[in-house]
Amino acid sequence: MLLQSKLAILADAAKYDASCASSGSVSRDSVGGRGMGSTEGMGICHSYAPDGRCISLLKILLTNFCQYDCLYCVNRVTSNVPRARFTVDEVVQLTLDFYRRNCIEGLFLSSGIIQSPDYTMEQVVEVARVLREAHDFRGYIHLKTIPDASPELLQRAGRYADRLSINIELPTAESLTALAPEKNSAAIDRSMARMAVHIGESRAARKEQAAQAVVSLPQSRTTRRASAPLFAPGGQSTQMIVGADATDDRTILATSARLYGVHRLRRVYYSAFSPIPDAARALPLAAPPIVREHRLYQADWLMRFYGFTHDEIVLPSQVGMLALDVDPKLAWALAHRERFPVNLNTAPRELLLRVPGFGVQTVDRLLAARRVRRLRHADLTRLHVPLKKVLPFVEAADYRPGRALDAADLAAQLAPPPPVQRSLF
Ligand code: SF4
Repeated sequence: MLLQSKLAILADAAKYDASCASSGSVSRDSVGGRGMGSTEGMGICHSYAPDGRCISLLKILLTNFCQYDCLYCVNRVTSNVPRARFTVDEVVQLTLDFYRRNCIEGLFLSSGIIQSPDYTMEQVVEVARVLREAHDFRGYIHLKTIPDASPELLQRAGRYADRLSINIELPTAESLTALAPEKNSAAIDRSMARMAVHIGESRAARKEQAAQAVVSLPQSRTTRRASAPLFAPGGQSTQMIVGADATDDRTILATSARLYGVHRLRRVYYSAFSPIPDAARALPLAAPPIVREHRLYQADWLMRFYGFTHDEIVLPSQVGMLALDVDPKLAWALAHRERFPVNLNTAPRELLLRVPGFGVQTVDRLLAARRVRRLRHADLTRLHVPLKKVLPFVEAADYRPGRALDAADLAAQLAPPPPVQRSLF
């Protein structure tokens, strides 16, 4: 089969994986090396397709042959799709060629499972090894790891990759057993735990080394750099399919909170289930509204950056599901009107973060400004916050919201038009 045909099949087969954002790696470039590539500071440059998916990596499967039969997956063994398989050298050459042509800034590599989890993982790791060791490639590499692969292979993968991920696939162990019978949630958990330990150890060793370098005698810039081995400096992430089973948003967020807390994941990605050809009867016929995926991402941000706990985001009145017509922060504020208005001049940071329309940066700017003067209505205008959304919930030195919070139709006044549903097909 022509390489181009393989690429068409194996890039298309990889499009269902949403967990490919590339932020959070270490700074690395080709200066002083014999190869090419850089991760440009905090992460490589990346862009997003209109539906929010990252598009600046070469995102492919090593193969879409797979011996597993996960019902939600277009590449499952019983699926009637064209199949292809790259060799290790082909993926290496494609990555280097695309990189030289400035089409990509890194590689996102996943694979169907062939022969055995260890065999497949060995091939995936070998691609990264050849890129790094034989070609001194310093661009971004994200490897999708296979939970049942041996701990030694996971460890090797972490040496070469900027980020590792293991898909949790479904929000509960019961759903995984029902829809992906060969997968095992305990094995996924074990692998995530192992990776968390390696990532933590590597970070701690490099931190300690950097601290020692600061107190020791002046050295050259090169020798001052921490040289303890890196292990997936961009951390680990996972992906959860939403809408393939009946799990509600409250349970999904509880699972995410556990993954962030226990395994210190960098990101949980939510991927709205896409109906696939010749689907099993256990699967829904239609995709969930894409806005559900969007609301989960918003809720996820509230947990990670805004001090919300997972169990307060889905309101008791919402019967386990996030509202689709308003974002979760606005929904929470509307249901807790007694906590507002928040005084811009006296409220603590954690309360300001709960104001609809305020981002983390806005709150930090308000806190900095109020150290030197009383905040007024005009300060909000200067910060370009969405005034219509913010004003009912705040008060300033020269502003009071009056009875705006009492309006029965406040939710309707503030709700934006719903986003348009898009399809992967
Ligand atoms: S292991 Fe499951 S999800 Fe992964 S490629 Fe195979 S069938 Fe698809």
